[in-house]
Amino acid sequence: MNAAKFIWMNGKYVPWAEAQIHVLSHTLHYGNGVIEGTKAYKTERGYAIFRLNEHTKRLKESAKMTLIDIPFTVEEMNEAQIDLVRKNEFTGDNVYIRPFAFLGYGVMGLYHKDAPVETVMAAWEWGAYLGEEGLRRGIRLKIASMTRPANTSNMGKAKASANYLNSQMAKFEAIESGYDEALLLDDQGYVAEASGACFFMVRDGQLISPPNDNSLESITQKTVIEMAKKMGYEVVRRRITREEIYVADEAFLTGTAAEITPVREVDARIIGKGERGPVTEKIQSSYFDIVFGRDPDYDHYLTYI
Ligand code: PMP
Repeated sequence: MNAAKFIWMNGKYVPWAEAQIHVLSHTLHYGNGVIEGTKAYKTERGYAIFRLNEHTKRLKESAKMTLIDIPFTVEEMNEAQIDLVRKNEFTGDNVYIRPFAFLGYGVMGLYHKDAPVETVMAAWEWGAYLGEEGLRRGIRLKIASMTRPANTSNMGKAKASANYLNSQMAKFEAIESGYDEALLLDDQGYVAEASGACFFMVRDGQLISPPNDNSLESITQKTVIEMAKKMGYEVVRRRITREEIYVADEAFLTGTAAEITPVREVDARIIGKGERGPVTEKIQSSYFDIVFGRDPDYDHYLTYI
């Protein structure tokens, strides 16, 4: 990975290499931690963080769901991220910000009430999550053999570290099978989401994305729905089954890191013409205009550094 200069830990800046923790930290053993993934883009007016407040608010909410009491306000954490991007003196187009909270050293055993909460913000330069070629040509998706954990045994609305064991297993399986990314179904067999992104398909000019019944409430998905409606597309939120995807005209993934990544193949079925489709291309190019500060209609989503 690309190291940066400083990491913000519990209110203080520490040099990148010194941001360390004890091996007996609670989260390392039992997995209760919460993360965010936020992006800053280099615009013509300097770096701007996309939908900063929504991301930080989701971190606080994920923590509340998982009984982690972050001792900083959303405003304090917003300020920390702005300052962190400034202090690190980045130069590239893409900066990924990872705010997170976890349980530190001092308590063992599952009851975590007295475990100290550590709050950290890190940022580094990180390009296209699914590759530049993936953004241009589209990626190949495999439906994972595991389902996303059911709502009866999981908190899928929390961006919780523990949820990523499922994502990680699915992603590994997909890549080892020669694909680029995994798509997970829910316990009823309907599309939930990809391992780290949400799913859209295009059929007969309509954009269809599943409800967030069994997925993270994605900020990029929400942005795409707003954009697509403004562009005049009909957007439908409904359950999607596997075989509908196979005959879709187009498909794409949305996420802070995945941005708008076209899908060209799913489980050995070519989607559409097997390349980035025309609707996907329009959405993708408008999304980049927004995050790079080239669309004044969405300037309110950018926090300039
Ligand atoms: N689902 C999962 C499991 C994710 O990790 C992500 C990335 N945060 C998303 C969906 C997309 O969410 P967002 O658009 O808010 O980044």
